[in-house]
Amino acid sequence: MQPVLASIITIGDELLIGQTIDTNSAWMAQELNKVGIAVHRRLAIGDVWKDIWESLNEESRLSKIILITGGLGPTADDITKPLLCQYFGGKLVVNEAALVNVTSIFERLNRPLLERNLKQAEVPDVCTVIQNRRGTAPGMMFEKDGVIFVSMPGVPNEMKGMMTADVLPLLAGRFNLNPIVHRTLVTAGIGESFLAERIKEFEDSLPSNIKLAYLPNYGMVKLRLSATGNDNKTIAELEALFDMLKQQVADVMVIDEDISLQEAVGRLLSSHGKSMGTAESCTGGYIAHLLTGVSGASNYFKGSIVSYSNDIKQHLLDVSAQTLTTVGAVSEDTVIQMVKGALHQLKTDYIVATSGIMGPRGGSSEKPVGTVWIAVGNKNRIRTHHFHFRFDRQRNMDMTAQNALNMLRKFIIEMEQ
Ligand code: ATP
Repeated sequence: MQPVLASIITIGDELLIGQTIDTNSAWMAQELNKVGIAVHRRLAIGDVWKDIWESLNEESRLSKIILITGGLGPTADDITKPLLCQYFGGKLVVNEAALVNVTSIFERLNRPLLERNLKQAEVPDVCTVIQNRRGTAPGMMFEKDGVIFVSMPGVPNEMKGMMTADVLPLLAGRFNLNPIVHRTLVTAGIGESFLAERIKEFEDSLPSNIKLAYLPNYGMVKLRLSATGNDNKTIAELEALFDMLKQQVADVMVIDEDISLQEAVGRLLSSHGKSMGTAESCTGGYIAHLLTGVSGASNYFKGSIVSYSNDIKQHLLDVSAQTLTTVGAVSEDTVIQMVKGALHQLKTDYIVATSGIMGPRGGSSEKPVGTVWIAVGNKNRIRTHHFHFRFDRQRNMDMTAQNALNMLRKFIIEMEQ
């Protein structure tokens, strides 16, 4: 069965000048994919009548579903609604439910309701209205020659609410869909091409309905098996192949789920009832930020000492002045002492410590930009590793954080055996 095709059109001048990053279409594409709708085109268009009109003509020749976001607001540059009204040959009428929604939002905010706000409750009389539970502009659905058009606000949170509550269930009911099922595992410490060599035979022998994807990111590679169809036979086949894949990469596998390293570390600590903290110099609290982005982190994450200056390293973490003057802050000795100091101060089972030069300035011939020392430890043992990353500041920081979390993950596994 051929997948149902969709096009996504995001509207707004701000998307074309790079002021707003189009995260809407990425999110929508993922959600459509999950229910078995294949996105084959994504377009970003300015607030230009002719361009939007032509894109509707063109996309409706290619796709059964056209999802549109943006341009529904109350200002003059928001032309999507009048355009759709004309495109589908209707006239604007007040939608009672939308009017109640707009009025109650303004009442709640205790703000005066302007004429232009009231206009938000107007919709073309040829559409099905999709209520906006998170904002004022209602969504609209049209149908023409078997093609479904859905227009939603550009505000990501409002669009997501509508997609989840109304649009996706509606599309699933309207089309005969074949969902795509994924099984993902995460590897670390092995490059994409080495992985590809290792699992070449496995990949070559995959049946045509199951695809393998390599998704590299910051020193990790995710391997994703995707099957089209969610019947019992397909799922059983997918599971058997996933087990086979797991065996082939067992030594470099982090986890057999599509989760981040910080989530993997969190689960490990929770399962052993252990706690951790961080002592961060070059990552400036970034590792703590990643860890605390996981819900439930308070069960195992106690805190962080962001010891960016030598003064803080010395006074809060007890790194010796001699170490700092002789071998410097970016050194193995320093990160070892940072682990010891943080174990003492934070009273946790595990600590991860970082010190490095993120760039673009601050490097020397002896310690070039990208030089990083990481240490992980508990009260019995400390393990260190020296890295040399060759990227820009942000990427160097990401690489440091990911490698630190992976070192910690491995260390905990070994210590808790
Ligand atoms: P509303 O009437 O609720 O304001 P709207 O349809 O008029 O919605 P826009 O004015 O186009 O929406 O965009 C509102 C905000 O939503 C923008 O300032 C921008 O920050 C964000 N936004 C718009 N389009 C996108 C997109 N494709 N991806 C991410 N954010 C977007």
